[in-house]
Amino acid sequence: MERKVGFIGLGIMGKPMTLNLMKAGHTLTVFDLNQEAVSSLVEAGATAAASPKKVAENSDVIITMLPASKHVQEVVLGENGVLEGAKEGSVIIDMSSITPEVSKELAAEAAKKGVGMLDAPVSGGEPKAIDGTLAIMVGGNEDVFESVQSVLYGMGKDVTLVGDNGCGVTAKLANQIIVNLNIAAMSEALVLAAKAGINIEKMYQAIRGGLAGSTVLDAKVPMILDRNFVAGGSIAINMKDITNVMDTAHEIGVPLPLSSQLLEIFHALKVDGKIKDDHGSIVRYYEKLANVEVKRV
Ligand code: NAD
Repeated sequence: MERKVGFIGLGIMGKPMTLNLMKAGHTLTVFDLNQEAVSSLVEAGATAAASPKKVAENSDVIITMLPASKHVQEVVLGENGVLEGAKEGSVIIDMSSITPEVSKELAAEAAKKGVGMLDAPVSGGEPKAIDGTLAIMVGGNEDVFESVQSVLYGMGKDVTLVGDNGCGVTAKLANQIIVNLNIAAMSEALVLAAKAGINIEKMYQAIRGGLAGSTVLDAKVPMILDRNFVAGGSIAINMKDITNVMDTAHEIGVPLPLSSQLLEIFHALKVDGKIKDDHGSIVRYYEKLANVEVKRV
């Protein structure tokens, strides 16, 4: 079913997601603080709105894809925000990676106005946002979820209702632990192999079909060998997620020894001026320790 969709947050992820929704036949109204991002989507057929409130007035489904909790709170709850314009019966889908606490707060505020709310963060990064094959992990009411299927499948391939409000972003926190610790483990292995002097490309071909093979390995080894650290998923964004992981874990009484070390690695990379790099740049932390570079022979 074709819908009137509002989209707020047209960055690395939001822009290709918006383009895919238009390709799927939905009518798009968009907003971003960055006017260049808005203009490029207007050229592609979207309508620009002057505020999140105006986006909501023109839409039945309003999607937010913003950096962090505070941006989503401002856009949804703030002055000229989504909830000032949203019609009763409309649905907000927050696809940003934020904390479960804030997701639940937003859902409660939306419910007071008769507006449905889903947290629906994604995994797969920019390549899968472009292909429209994102993994989408959803939290919220089942009927609300069913009512926006055509919109979610316009952006993703595996769309799973995990549970009630907050469950989607909780699944995303778990996802981020697995992805980033995978990159750290891979980095240790690559640096060991590089210093030992073996051919990294051959090693990669030798191990990728076994138990060490992974989506992370296939995505990041070629980037590292090309010395391409352009984000993708930036250190800044992943550091925000692992900070949320640690805060949430401590609040509910879960010690996370490996994730806490990972957070320190992110802080070291930030101090080293690599905050805007792709998280594949974790390898450069290990390269510095071992005084070696992972490269093609
Ligand atoms: P980004 O920084 O590229 O884009 C964010 C956009 O939001 C920008 O265009 C910015 O101008 C806009 N924005 C910020 N504050 C705003 C406001 N108050 N009003 C309107 N627009 C505002 O970020 P991204 O990489 O697209 O990530 C977005 C979300 O998706 C984050 O929560 C991130 O954790 C998550 N995510 C990112 C990736 C990735 O690989 N980049 C992968 C999965 C999930």
